[in-house]
Amino acid sequence: MFERKLSVSLLMCLIACDQRPQQPAPQQQMKPLDILVSVPAFDGQEAYRFLTAQTDFGPRNPGSQGYRKCLRFLQDEMAKHAEEVFLQEFTHTNFKGETHNYANIVSRFNRTAIVRVLLTAHWDTRPWADNDQDPSNHNKPILGANDGASGVAVLLEIARHLKKNPPLIGVDIVFFDAEDVGRHGDQKSYAIGSLHFAKNMPRNINARFAVNLDMVGDKVLTIPREQNSDRYAPGVMNLIYSTAEELGISEFVNGVGEEIFDDHIPLNEAGIPAVDLIDFNYPDNSNRYWHSLEDTPDKCSPQSLEAVGKVLLHILYKKEITY
Ligand SMILES: [Zn+2]
Repeated sequence: MFERKLSVSLLMCLIACDQRPQQPAPQQQMKPLDILVSVPAFDGQEAYRFLTAQTDFGPRNPGSQGYRKCLRFLQDEMAKHAEEVFLQEFTHTNFKGETHNYANIVSRFNRTAIVRVLLTAHWDTRPWADNDQDPSNHNKPILGANDGASGVAVLLEIARHLKKNPPLIGVDIVFFDAEDVGRHGDQKSYAIGSLHFAKNMPRNINARFAVNLDMVGDKVLTIPREQNSDRYAPGVMNLIYSTAEELGISEFVNGVGEEIFDDHIPLNEAGIPAVDLIDFNYPDNSNRYWHSLEDTPDKCSPQSLEAVGKVLLHILYKKEITY
C-alpha cells in the first residue's frame, strides 16, 4: 500500500518539478495533485451517441447479428484509444441448454503504471424479455439501452479521454460478455463473463479497485449504495460518494440501496475490491422497463451518463488512490 502511494506522490513531484519556471518565485510551493492535473470534461452527448451506436445494431444477445456487429464496433472503437485491446473468448451453455461463443473485450491504458484501476460493464444484452408486461414478448431479445449499452457508453467516452489526456495511473477497461444469460432466482447462472475473467485474470491487471457500471442511463437516475459493494469495498464506495458530493452530483444518493448480484461479485471473490454502480429502479420502483422491450434509448439521457462519467473521471484524474 505504502509503496504504491509513494509512487503516485513521486510522479506528482516530477510533474511539479517539470512545471517549475527557471527562476522559481521565493514562495513557490508544490501544488496538490488536483491543481496540477486538469480533469477532462465528460461529454454526455458523446456518451449518448455511443449508447445509440450500440442499440442501432439491434439486440446484442449471443449468436445474433447485432452481437457480431457490436463486437466488431467495440473492438475497433477501443483500438483507437487503448495501448492494447484483446479478447478473452470462451463458450458457455445456458440453463436452456443453448451453447454459444462469448468474448470479454479487454483494453489497457498506460500499461506500465503500477497504480491501476479497473473499469467494467457488460456489453451483452438479455436474450429474453422475461419481465415484459406482455407475456407474448417473454422470448424476444431486449434492446438493452440501459441494461448493457449505458455502462459501455460511459466507458467508451472515458476511453477517448484516457487517450487524449492520459492520467497518472493505469486503467484497464473490460466489457464483460454473458452477464445476462441467467435464470431468475439462480444468481450463479449470471455474470459468466466476469467469472471467466476473474478465473483467467490477464497478467499485470493489479487493480487497486474496480468499478462496474450497470443500468446507469435511466433518465430518472438515482444510484444508492449497493449493499454487496459496501460489504466488500466500503472504502471505494466512500471515495465515489464523497467525490459525487464534492461535485454536487445529486444522482448519487448516499443511502442504502438494494443488494445486487452483478459482475462485481466474481471480481471481489478474486480479491479485487469492486463496487457496482446501478440504478435498479427503471424508471421507478416498479422496475418495469428492466428485462423488457421497453428498455430503449428514449428512456435514457445524456445527462445521466454524464453524471456517472464525471464522477469517474474525477477519481481517475484527481484523487490520490490510497486503497
Ligand atoms: Zn439485465
